[in-house]
Amino acid sequence: MKLSHITIQGFKSFAKKTTLDVTHQVTGVVGPNGSGKSNIAEAIRFVLGEQSMKSMRGKIGADVIFKGSEHLSALSRASVMMVIDNKEKTEISHASETLAPFLVYDELVLSRIIYSDGTSDYTLNDAKVRLKDVQELLSFAGIGGSAHTIINQGEADRILLSSPKDRKEALEDALGLRIYHMRLNESKRKLERVKTNVHEVELLRLEIKPHLSSLEKQVKKIESQEEETKNLQRLLIAYLNREKAELDILHDRIREKGTSNALIHITDSIHKELTLLKDKTYDKKDSSVLEKQTLQAEMRSLLSRRDQFAKTTGRLEAEKSYLEKELNREEELKEITISYDNFTNTHKELKSDFSTLSQYISDKDTDNAQNKLKDVTNKVDGFFNLNNSEEASKKEKIVKDIENIVAEIKEHEEKAQSLNTEINSLQEKINNIEKDAETEITSRYEEEKKVMLLESKLRELDSTIALIRQEEGELLLRKQYFDALLKEGVAIIGQNILIYKDSVPEEKYKDTPKADLLRAIERSKLRIEEAGVQNREEILAEYKTTKDRDEYLMKELTDIKDSEQKLLILIDDLTKSLTEKFNVGVTEVSKVFSEFFGEVFAGGKGKLTLIQLVKVDEDGNEITEQGIDIDVTLPNKKVKEINMFSGGERALVSISLLFAMSSITPPPFMVLDETDAPLDETNAQKYGVMLQRLSEKSKLLVITHNRETMNHCDMLYGVTIGVDGSSKLLSIDFKKAEGLVE
Ligand code: ATP
Repeated sequence: MKLSHITIQGFKSFAKKTTLDVTHQVTGVVGPNGSGKSNIAEAIRFVLGEQSMKSMRGKIGADVIFKGSEHLSALSRASVMMVIDNKEKTEISHASETLAPFLVYDELVLSRIIYSDGTSDYTLNDAKVRLKDVQELLSFAGIGGSAHTIINQGEADRILLSSPKDRKEALEDALGLRIYHMRLNESKRKLERVKTNVHEVELLRLEIKPHLSSLEKQVKKIESQEEETKNLQRLLIAYLNREKAELDILHDRIREKGTSNALIHITDSIHKELTLLKDKTYDKKDSSVLEKQTLQAEMRSLLSRRDQFAKTTGRLEAEKSYLEKELNREEELKEITISYDNFTNTHKELKSDFSTLSQYISDKDTDNAQNKLKDVTNKVDGFFNLNNSEEASKKEKIVKDIENIVAEIKEHEEKAQSLNTEINSLQEKINNIEKDAETEITSRYEEEKKVMLLESKLRELDSTIALIRQEEGELLLRKQYFDALLKEGVAIIGQNILIYKDSVPEEKYKDTPKADLLRAIERSKLRIEEAGVQNREEILAEYKTTKDRDEYLMKELTDIKDSEQKLLILIDDLTKSLTEKFNVGVTEVSKVFSEFFGEVFAGGKGKLTLIQLVKVDEDGNEITEQGIDIDVTLPNKKVKEINMFSGGERALVSISLLFAMSSITPPPFMVLDETDAPLDETNAQKYGVMLQRLSEKSKLLVITHNRETMNHCDMLYGVTIGVDGSSKLLSIDFKKAEGLVE
């Protein structure tokens, strides 16, 4: 970067627009006292963002605005524009995002306008920028706000008299290290903000943590309830499908066998049929038995009468036969007829007599035996003598008796004959009844068989009905339980469970007994009930919001911590780079200072030393700061304290140091406002040599009254101030040997 032009308008004594071409190596500004030369230096200081009014010899911002004169009225604003040649691009790696886009241009136009109220506007290439951006740009350009680029009138030795710490800062500026400090400070500020953010975010997270963990617990409950609900759904699908299939089978089986009501209907009709059948059989049985019994009784009477006849006939036949034999014996064998009574009586007596006789014989009672024998013999003789007289009448009577008997037999035989006819007819009737009864028995057997069949059928039906009723009862109970379970399932799981048939039961439940499934279902329902949470939807929504917020905060925290880490790394890098560059810079500056010093003070020695300064901060802590010490020895002089040097000596030491500082990182320009004022002619010549050497790397704007110095200028501006109180510029380009231009 190189300074190209400066345009001043309304600034201090420069009421009108005035442009300085500073493209030459050394530009001189000359003019009488009070013409406005120093105002040019201050205008440059102003555009570079100077905030100290004091350093611009003012009190308030409006002091730098042209205040007017007798002929010119006061202005309301002042502006200074600086044009910088940027064809040789500066490294932009450390440039801020605002500044980086500008650094690519070949020309940078920086301007500052100050208004009567003291406010300023800064623009860079017509874009409004902040003071901070301006300072950063200057830092890039190695210009810096400290003393080394713009040396105010009478302040040449300021760097010598300043503190080691201020000297260090001036050196850092000169070495172009201000950008590191800016970056460091910015990073540290950011770090502080980041730390505050971290703390705030952590506090926020801490605040919502108890609420979040309470919500988390409830959500876990809800999730476990949902998980359990899914489990219940799986169990129900397995159970309902299986139970439904079984119920269908049971239902079909009952329908096939007939419902208990249908069977009861059948039973009723069988009962009716059976009653009819039984009544019919009973009636038939009664009438036939009765008839048979009557006939059999009649038969028994007839047979008894016939037997009576037979007996009588037999007796008569026997009597007749006896009589006929009696008669025949009487006639053919002259047999004696003995009356039956007589004979029987005699026979009884004799039999008793013989018995007595036998007893006498057995007892060997001879006398009685002989008497008895005589008695018996007499009785026999008497019997036979009696019968011979009755014989004739007897014969006659026998014949008559026989005739009577025959008649009687005949009569009996006739009656018997009639009885036989009656018996036969009765027998025939009985036979018929028996035959009928046989047929009846056969038919009754069939009917009884039928009754038995019906009765067994009834028994069978009764047991079937009982069984079916049991099955129907079981079906009903199971169906009721099934429906209740399904209803409960709908209440817990939702309508989805109604289409359980569309879901295939899980393989793992294939062999699980139904009772185990039911137990698992009951346990699952219990768990769901236990995990029950009120206001489920609200809790889930609140949990989501809180969780999102926490995650957002967590992400923010991660991002912030990440940027904190990056900042720490950046700070560390910047600190290292700064330290390294500064240490190298100090050595280099010290070396050049030594050279300059040796040239200016032949036999003198000068060097810079980096020193550690221990300070106590506001909190009472010891802190170490770095500072720069100047160690000089003038030729043939023992005094080493700079403040004891003469004004000229101080000016020369100071110039040597400022020039040494500027030679390492040459700034685009330097403004030296009467820095040569205290020098004698010899030293002014040495000053001129140094100017020449310095101008090889930086543009120099030299305000001077010294002719020796003027000799080293390539371009000379003359400043005058007219009666209107406004400064004017006249220029002489020595190299082009052109005349004065306004
Ligand atoms: P010297 O050679 O004595 O150092 P110089 O050329 O450097 O003088 P300056 O200090 O630049 O002179 O100019 C001072 C002049 O500027 C004064 O005359 C002062 O009146 C004038 N001046 C300062 N501020 C204003 C202002 N705001 N409005 C008008 N004129 C101003």
